Amino acid sequence: MRHVILGFTAVILAAPMAAQPGGARGTPIQPGESCPPGMTEIRPRNCMAPGAPAPSILDYRPKSTLVASVHLVPRAKYPAIDFHGHPQGLLGSPDGLDSLRRMLDTLNVRMLVSADNSSGDRLLRTVASVSGSPMKDRVRILAGISFQGAGSPGWADSAVARLEADVAAGAVGVGEIGKGFGQTTRKADGSRLAVDDPVLNPIWEACARLKLPVFIHTADPQSFYQPLDYNNERWLEMSLFPGRAISSDQHPNFEELMQERDNLFRHNPKTTFVAAHMGWHAHDLGRLGRMLDEMPNLYTEVGAVLYDIGRQPRTAHDFFVKYQDRILFGKDSFQPEEYPYYWRVFETKDDYFDYYRPYHAFWKLYGIDLPDSVLKKVYFQNALRITSRLPQSGWPK
Ligand SMILES: [Zn+2]
Repeated sequence: MRHVILGFTAVILAAPMAAQPGGARGTPIQPGESCPPGMTEIRPRNCMAPGAPAPSILDYRPKSTLVASVHLVPRAKYPAIDFHGHPQGLLGSPDGLDSLRRMLDTLNVRMLVSADNSSGDRLLRTVASVSGSPMKDRVRILAGISFQGAGSPGWADSAVARLEADVAAGAVGVGEIGKGFGQTTRKADGSRLAVDDPVLNPIWEACARLKLPVFIHTADPQSFYQPLDYNNERWLEMSLFPGRAISSDQHPNFEELMQERDNLFRHNPKTTFVAAHMGWHAHDLGRLGRMLDEMPNLYTEVGAVLYDIGRQPRTAHDFFVKYQDRILFGKDSFQPEEYPYYWRVFETKDDYFDYYRPYHAFWKLYGIDLPDSVLKKVYFQNALRITSRLPQSGWPK
């Protein structure tokens, strides 16, 4: 009798374990299926819900137990040029310039390029303010192009004349051409002004003739064009800032904008373009590398995509080494406390540290450990080379 009971127990235990590893409490799924909402896969193809109520993604803040070396980098190793500056009114007064100087000195940013689309009187006033201050060799201004009236008779000639006047006043390049260009900017006839519209070619030709780099931001992060569901990496950001989500049937969509942008670069090979935010391809460096291979007039800038650089340290390291002559440092949003995260990613091989903006990245960053020669190119040499009007003396060899 006893013999029989034991055998029976063994059969009961063994049968469900074989069919449903993890015990009878789990919910099985088919290969390739995801667990139902509220559950997680505890053993292959077997899902379970936690016993306690799960915290929201806002409230789940696990403290890492990893013991790793920490190398904070408050100052860049070499003097940097921030090619993507938005100094928010600090250039207009001696006090503003003095506070900017103190912040940049702390970070070892030697030069700020203001990418605020300045032109005409506003540009003249800013240049006068800077050149009369101790910051006269440390701030330079990009000129803006006004696309208003594009396509109407005489528009291109007057836009070129305005650009020439802005350069005479001290502008060193063009930008930042904002993301509205290609999406919302309209031509004189009311139609959408496409990024590759040939009516703009006289402007790009003038930029080539005047040796002005064109700093251009096209489109938004690719995730913004994808469905706002729980598979979207930017769900939290789009929920915090609902205006950032872009309907997936919107025209032009991400790929259309990328095609038009690449046509612009291809059709104007004598013009130097700097694609802001790594062209929104920092999550796909293979694609960005193919663009750089194909288009020798193309450069790129790293502002506001550190979360993608720092989550692929080996691939990013190799990319920066391979394309070391084509990448410029830029920060975008002017938050002095955020620059040291860039220095740490570029200069160290630290593991698994926090990004500064959790809604951009719920993952950790890793240092990509760039060699000194590459750091110098990214921090200042490439910007100096493509922007002949920047002050060229006094930089490290
Ligand atoms: Zn910007």
